[in-house]
Amino acid sequence: MSDKNLICSFCGLSKVQTNLLVAGQEAHICDSCIEQAYGIIIEESKRGEDSLKNEEFKISKPKEIKGFLDDYVIGQDQTKKVLSVAVYNHYKRLNQKQSKNDIEIDKSNILIVGQTGTGKTLLAKTIAKMLDVPLAIVDATVLTEAGYVGEDVETILTRLLQASDYDQDKAERGIVFIDEIDKIARKSDNPSITRDVSGEGVQQALLKLLEGAIVNVPPKGGRKHPDQEFIELDTQNILFIAGGAFNGIERIISKRLNMQVVGYKNPKDKNTNFDNLLTYISPKDLKDFGLIPEILGRLPVLSYMNNLDKKALRSILTEPKNAIIKQFEKLFEMDDINISFTDEGLDYIVEKALEYKLGARGLRSICEIVLNDAMFELPSSKRKKLTIDKNYILNKLSDSSLNILKAAS
Ligand code: ADP
Repeated sequence: MSDKNLICSFCGLSKVQTNLLVAGQEAHICDSCIEQAYGIIIEESKRGEDSLKNEEFKISKPKEIKGFLDDYVIGQDQTKKVLSVAVYNHYKRLNQKQSKNDIEIDKSNILIVGQTGTGKTLLAKTIAKMLDVPLAIVDATVLTEAGYVGEDVETILTRLLQASDYDQDKAERGIVFIDEIDKIARKSDNPSITRDVSGEGVQQALLKLLEGAIVNVPPKGGRKHPDQEFIELDTQNILFIAGGAFNGIERIISKRLNMQVVGYKNPKDKNTNFDNLLTYISPKDLKDFGLIPEILGRLPVLSYMNNLDKKALRSILTEPKNAIIKQFEKLFEMDDINISFTDEGLDYIVEKALEYKLGARGLRSICEIVLNDAMFELPSSKRKKLTIDKNYILNKLSDSSLNILKAAS
């Protein structure tokens, strides 16, 4: 058969009638049949996904969850354990078959107290990565009570919808990390003094989201789109993790501990961890700080972060799966350039981060400053190897640049 006489074995069109005819040994297929077949494949795989949605959520055991967190987050063992158990229970609850005789398991939303830059957001991000669920990170400081300038609490869920590509089912199993929850604390412990717009009202508004309710969510967010149609989202299975620095809460904790001196516990005893009084945090302290009891009741899992010491900062530089130094090495490697850091150099970076109180975030900024010239020059030079030692860093890192970093942090 001459080439011109070939026909598509599926639709029967001859080669001249098609844009393209792929010839096989026995059979041939034209471009439009390929397109159609492709459509069928996509349709079928979607159907498969839909049936997966109804399957149980596969959840790792707490030890496996912690193991995953260990790969990305340095230290913070206590919070990792608490978080692993809370996440495990949360998703177990989600898998619980809803039969009438079932004991209803309450939600285990989490509150993490700890200085900024100690890894609270990183923990939430890592958990979401592990579970492959959408994550929305929101800042409580922008939230206001309905009717005031700012964002309504419902926009938290707008973010989650956006993170889920507007897939409602996905959003309803997602995680919301509410940062700076301490900023909506009541300014005074006495509720009768004044109406506290920014604090208590927002806490009240958050209650229904945290406990589980059907919420009307503006898909575009904000109040700028009054005509948009709301999407109903059930928050029952959304896991909320709240974080905050609660600056000054140590005073409240130590006051409470002191009061117990009279009774049985002397805070001066050797067992008391004065380096991190947050170890002793209790819901009562958070109430005294200005969170309303109802909010605390809906964030029943409480944990704390340790401040990052020299050893932790040093590990953060090189140990996590996507450690800062590994990232820079990778960037250079893409230009076939091999960079390496000496131990002394790495220690010096940590020293400077501590001296200027830049925390873990500062480590990255310092590396950016130190490596900027190299990142600019080396891709156009013949040099394929660079060792970053203390001297190199001293040359690139001026006190003034460190002061700028400090001012910005
Ligand atoms: P927080 O939410 O407590 O303010 P982040 O989680 O945003 O702090 O931390 C800021 C950055 O610092 C992270 O992206 C990460 O690079 C680094 N970092 C902070 N704490 C840790 C930690 N414990 N382990 C590894 N990296 C950390």
